[in-house]
Amino acid sequence: MNLFRLIIIALAVWIAYRIWQNFKTKAKQIPPKNSQQAISDVVACQVCDMHIPENEAFRKGNKVYCSQQHLDSDN
Ligand SMILES: [Zn+2]
Repeated sequence: MNLFRLIIIALAVWIAYRIWQNFKTKAKQIPPKNSQQAISDVVACQVCDMHIPENEAFRKGNKVYCSQQHLDSDN
């Protein structure tokens, strides 16, 4: 039964090796933090060139402004 025992040991080593490899692969696949995606794009005011988050910008057509005053003053 020596051969049978050898096969069992070989199988156990192979399974352990596969588990270890799987663990290593999973450790590498930790998803990157999405904090950068949470920050919205920054846009520049057409009048004073101040940079502001896109979701706070005032828009007219495809132009963006930092405030309602600059939106009104740019014609
Ligand atoms: Zn402005």
